[in-house]
Amino acid sequence: MGAFFYSWGACQEVTGSKHFVDTGQHTIMIDAGMFQGRRKEAYKKNTDLPFDPSAVDAIILTHAHFDHCGHLPYVTKNGFNGNIYCTPATRDLASLIMLDSAYIQEKDAEFARKKGKEFIPDPLYDDADVTVALGQVVAFGYRRTFTIPGATVTFYDAGHILGSSLVVMELTDGLTIGFTGDLGRPGLPILRDPQMIPAVDYLVCESTYGDRLHDDIKDAEDRLGAVIGRIVETRGKLIIPAFAVERTQEIIYFLHLLKDRGAIPRELPIFVDSPMAISATGIFRMHPECFDAETRQVFLNHNRNPFGFEGLHYIRDVRDSKELNRMPGPMIIISASGMCEAGRILHHLRNNIEDESNTVLIVGFMAENTLGRKLVNREREVNIFGESFQLRAHVESINAFSAHADYGEILRYLDKMDRSRLREVFLVHGEEKAQLSLKDRMLDAGIPKVTIASYGQQYPITRKS
Ligand SMILES: [Zn+2]
Repeated sequence: MGAFFYSWGACQEVTGSKHFVDTGQHTIMIDAGMFQGRRKEAYKKNTDLPFDPSAVDAIILTHAHFDHCGHLPYVTKNGFNGNIYCTPATRDLASLIMLDSAYIQEKDAEFARKKGKEFIPDPLYDDADVTVALGQVVAFGYRRTFTIPGATVTFYDAGHILGSSLVVMELTDGLTIGFTGDLGRPGLPILRDPQMIPAVDYLVCESTYGDRLHDDIKDAEDRLGAVIGRIVETRGKLIIPAFAVERTQEIIYFLHLLKDRGAIPRELPIFVDSPMAISATGIFRMHPECFDAETRQVFLNHNRNPFGFEGLHYIRDVRDSKELNRMPGPMIIISASGMCEAGRILHHLRNNIEDESNTVLIVGFMAENTLGRKLVNREREVNIFGESFQLRAHVESINAFSAHADYGEILRYLDKMDRSRLREVFLVHGEEKAQLSLKDRMLDAGIPKVTIASYGQQYPITRKS
């Protein structure tokens, strides 16, 4: 029997990544991501598994984002007992993210119960389940080819987040399939540019920004410097909501460069107020093997820590976090969550957005209906903890930080790839509009066949005869 490819997630949407290669003898799963979105609907999709985890022989993890690794403990809990393969940095970040999710799920259920809500989202897994999943992880560095049931596998740096990989899988009959995971962008701070994979027969490609182009990352540092210039002048506070993993470290890295070259005052205090960001930064420090040449050149060769410098303070304690309210500006506060939906950032926004000398800097995508989106839209009045606040602080956005390749960057990557064997590209991890647009652009660029993967549909994959 021939091999085939199918997906049970991230089909015409961007969450819940779960892709499969059935070799005829073995079932290999790529990523085990959680679905996110409307609560009840996502909860149902996450609870009902459309496949039998005990029939899966191996799982490969492309990177540690929640929508790629967040479902792992549930899959192992429901019968998967094979190995989970990923890079060492992905293992460490995934550990942090899965444990955090177990904690949040427990708190959510508790809250719903206490409020007497009709819908109680019972946790899909707890700490103990995460520990079991972590015990099944086998880590390999980039370009270290290893064997799994039915295939050999090699990781290449995807340049998306620390430890992220493009995966190349060669089945025992020689058929090769590449997976972009989430494809990064050239020029991102800290990380290497996406590495080129060798020729493959099939490519499973993400398409998040299949219809969009980003601002140039090169401008981000200068724009950040300009925004800081304003709060130095007004003696205000700069509040930056940022995801704890990757975005926070990128901002810290840029702030370090700005201080080094004297573009912002050396004594300006910077506070990273997020326990998870502190843990994530510790993991970044442990994985210099994932850094690009520039980071090594600027910092590591001089025995310096890119994530530690004069004036930078990490805050774990809630009391210290509250203390920031009483301190006068100018200062910078970086805090989670990234979309301003929960966490300490809410306290900082509540205390600072009514003062026009302050600035809120948006550095990430803000989904609809989040407080973050309302700030981007500069709504005059916003609700925080059930109270109404006047938005008088300045709001600035820098759109250059995206960790996903835009369509131009995806097409340039494909253009440089050896496509002599390429038979078909499957598009996953994108919304319909982005996928249709990217499909057209790929066909125009000479890709022989482009298929938008649909949920659960099986696609035969064969070698060129
Ligand atoms: Zn990702």
